[in-house]
Amino acid sequence: MKAAPDAKTGLYGIIGHPVGHSLSPAMQNAAFDTLGLNAVYLAFDVIDLAACLGGVRALGVKGLSVTIPHKEAVLSFLDEIDPVAQKIGAVNTILNRNGRLFGTNTDYAGAVSAIEDVIPVKDRKVIVLGAGGAARAVCAGLVEKGAVVHVANRTPGRARALAEAFGLNWSSLDGIGGFGAQIIINATSVGMRPHEDETPLMDASVFRGALAAMDIVYAPVETRFLKEAGKAGCKTINGLKMLIYQAAGQFELWTGLKAPLKVMEEALTGALV
Ligand code: NAP
Repeated sequence: MKAAPDAKTGLYGIIGHPVGHSLSPAMQNAAFDTLGLNAVYLAFDVIDLAACLGGVRALGVKGLSVTIPHKEAVLSFLDEIDPVAQKIGAVNTILNRNGRLFGTNTDYAGAVSAIEDVIPVKDRKVIVLGAGGAARAVCAGLVEKGAVVHVANRTPGRARALAEAFGLNWSSLDGIGGFGAQIIINATSVGMRPHEDETPLMDASVFRGALAAMDIVYAPVETRFLKEAGKAGCKTINGLKMLIYQAAGQFELWTGLKAPLKVMEEALTGALV
């Protein structure tokens, strides 16, 4: 049985607004418990970022996950930022190094690990739908692994800004027909509960000829986008995979230990029911 918290318990958590729905406490606490670490991970509903990070320094909170709406704004409150997170423009992980707050991003490596469980991305033609913080992280991971990426977004100016930052091609959402994608990724928020009947892909025939499709939306687990991809014969990767891998990356940065992936996956599945 887990020992009660004491004077040496390490404090970790997630900051966001709202944050009551977060699945991260289930995953991270299960990982701490399995490895017998004297640590606890809580969810903090935060509006005032400056006050929050002052508290983190004052209380010696060891590490934080950062979620919507703070992933971009938090950059200006940190002491040091990993260059990739800086280029993505979003931090999802903070490490407290003796009072100095270091920001990094595990979404990009998490996204690629999720895809590469199913298909290697090197030299593959990949369409990324979306140009928000998550899409920027997904593109950073794909570029690092040598994929050929085309970005498409509802607001074309955001697609162009992302494409220019990472040296990619871009278009509006209806301009992807001729690209011949082998992998298609939904990195928009379209299809999220309660709008399960929506998909960002205007023409499902784009799935024909593709090998795999990933949706980073994880509620519901099987989105309309993934259902249509599966019907067209693509291998499908749901958003829970990226969620687990980005959380495992955080755990490893905070503790220096290998994350117990299976345990984290079971905790996540348990928290979903
Ligand atoms: P964001 O910065 O707000 O970006 C949202 C994106 O969705 C933008 O590209 C936006 O297009 C597009 N979009 C929104 N409504 C749309 C609509 N009706 N039609 C077409 N496009 C629409 O959000 P984010 O941080 O990138 O997060 C996006 C999603 O990823 C969220 O659902 C989040 O929960 C999920 N996520 C999952 C993981 C994971 O581990 N699985 C990790 C991070 C994020 P415009 O630019 O035109 O507004």
